[in-house]
Amino acid sequence: MISNNWLYLEPFVHISLIRNKVLLYNTLNGKALEYDNNIKIYNLVKRLDYNKNLLVVKLTKSDLANTDIKSLLYKIRVNYMGDIINSPAIKFKPVQIKPIFNIQRSIQILKESGEASVGTNVMQNLTEVSININSECNLNCKNCKYTFKQFHFCTKYDRLKTELDIIYIKKIITALAGSSLKKLNITGGNILMYSKIEELTNLLLNYTSITEFYIHYKNILEYSDAFCLLNNKFMLNVLIDFPINLNGLESIKILINKKNIKTSFTFIINKIENLIEAEEHIVKLNIENYTILPYFDRSNLSFFKNNIFISKKDIYESKPTITDIYARQVINPNYFGKLGIMCNGSIYANLNGRVIGNIKNLDLNEAATKEMKEGTNWRKTRANITPCKDCLYKFICPPISDYEYGVGSYNLCKIN
Ligand code: SF4
Ligand code: SF4
Repeated sequence: MISNNWLYLEPFVHISLIRNKVLLYNTLNGKALEYDNNIKIYNLVKRLDYNKNLLVVKLTKSDLANTDIKSLLYKIRVNYMGDIINSPAIKFKPVQIKPIFNIQRSIQILKESGEASVGTNVMQNLTEVSININSECNLNCKNCKYTFKQFHFCTKYDRLKTELDIIYIKKIITALAGSSLKKLNITGGNILMYSKIEELTNLLLNYTSITEFYIHYKNILEYSDAFCLLNNKFMLNVLIDFPINLNGLESIKILINKKNIKTSFTFIINKIENLIEAEEHIVKLNIENYTILPYFDRSNLSFFKNNIFISKKDIYESKPTITDIYARQVINPNYFGKLGIMCNGSIYANLNGRVIGNIKNLDLNEAATKEMKEGTNWRKTRANITPCKDCLYKFICPPISDYEYGVGSYNLCKIN
């Protein structure tokens, strides 16, 4: 009896083919198989990857006689990436299911449709909005001018004292009623210097999404009266740069504990010594929720190369899910669904990118629709930038982030 040998790959295996290079990556266990310049293996994997084949192909006698392919089949099996089905009872091709990513379809519909209702649907994709309410701040942190490009919070946006009129904040909140917003960020300058801070906190008290305020700890110290307007309905992100005033930070911690606000502490570092010091304070002050955030100041490239640039090992060990990988082929998850409004009213999908419009004359849903339809930030993937577009790891590699814009290079890696 003739038996058919069907090779199948599991749906959680990611295939990457670039020129004559092949990568098979098991997203569950992080194991990878790589080949370069092996035409037999390249052609077999290309057949598996072909959309209509749905990760299942029939092996020919010549495939089964080839030593390299036999070795590949062995490695596929031992790395739990797939197997061969060779029962004579199976006459028809076995079926394998490939995941589908819905956003791609939505983008296509949007591009083809001029319907006003599409704007409402786009609001369903809006998950995070950041409002930079003012540019004023009396402090003079040395990292201030760098945070804008890298993190978009706690930065004197311009030299003028600019405030976003509360009318426009109300306009944004009203527009968000029809969205799937998960988080609203309030950033500045020193937001405690906002002229209508009391009216703003009262407005946000009645708002249902999580609202997070970003405030430098020294500004909390100096503006403790305005700070007392915040209560445990809100979230607080305390920004800390170096050198740290430990007594000041300790006082803030006590004040926050009394107010019982859910708080995260962000240590903004630019060298390894900052990291060591931050870790000491975290232990000493018993800080539970914290983030260590390195920033690029143009003089610390070696710190970035040693601590931020990723290696092939880091990429493999990151184990994104297959759904993450499909998403990264269509959208940039770091930016998708997020909008930022600066204190001068400018709306951005990514503050390092171009302005979409101004909240004074553009509705939020129009801005979101514009970005979804034409914009390059929500959909800025590694597939359309050099050198990543020619890299085997482009969809396993973390999506483009603010760091790339800060450093001014897309390949913050030790590979290309
Ligand atoms: S507290 Fe924030 S806005 Fe003020 S100077 Fe420091 S980094 Fe800039
Ligand atoms: S070249 Fe780009 S895609 Fe490839 S590893 Fe480096 S950063 Fe990632």
